[in-house]
Amino acid sequence: MPHAEQWARTRVRTSRQVRRGAWYRVLRATALEGVLEVNRRPVTVPRTFLQILPFRPTMWSVVTRLPNAQHPPASWGSTYGVCPSCSARAPLGRQAPQVVCPRCNGLFPVAWEDSGLCVFEAREETARPSAARDRATS
Ligand SMILES: [Zn+2]
Repeated sequence: MPHAEQWARTRVRTSRQVRRGAWYRVLRATALEGVLEVNRRPVTVPRTFLQILPFRPTMWSVVTRLPNAQHPPASWGSTYGVCPSCSARAPLGRQAPQVVCPRCNGLFPVAWEDSGLCVFEAREETARPSAARDRATS
């Protein structure tokens, strides 16, 4: 069966290799787990920790900073952004609508309210990427 392209991010820190909020290509997914391509290697993550979409979003992920983490620094505040293009982390400022990535220079909107994206989470049927992308940016 032909497989549409899928992308996933984790909301929970599950391993050293997988950065929270960063998008990774999904190699395969079952009801129990997803296998992500991380630095060209397969990494298995429990399915419940993953948000899987049928396209790669072009908005900053908003990630809650872990209170005991050394990176990013506490001066970034309680949340920070993860670039949708290069996965770099960056401070987001106060509800900035758009942020330029310090690494790749990409300008992307910030997904402060990304509950709308949950609509597109892959289930049995995946939405067509073009339709989903149109609606995600509106
Ligand atoms: Zn970037």
